[in-house]
Amino acid sequence: GAMAIYPCGMCHKEVNDNDEAVFCESGCNFFFHRTCVGLTEAAFQMLNKEVFAEWCCDKCVS
Ligand SMILES: [Zn+2]
Ligand SMILES: [Zn+2]
Repeated sequence: GAMAIYPCGMCHKEVNDNDEAVFCESGCNFFFHRTCVGLTEAAFQMLNKEVFAEWCCDKCVS
C-alpha cells in the first residue's frame, strides 16, 4: 500500500500489522518477525503484556 514498509531486520521481508513482531527498541530500531528471532509464543505474549519490557535483537545484545 501507500504506507511505509517496515522490513524485518532478519529476513528483510515486510512486517505487516497482523504479523507477530518485536521491535529492537534499544538497538537497531528494526522490527523482527517473532519466528525470525526464534521467540516462543509464550515469550512473545510476555513481552506484549509487559509495557516496560525492552527487547533487543541478537546483533545488538552482543
Ligand atoms: Zn522476518
Ligand atoms: Zn537490534
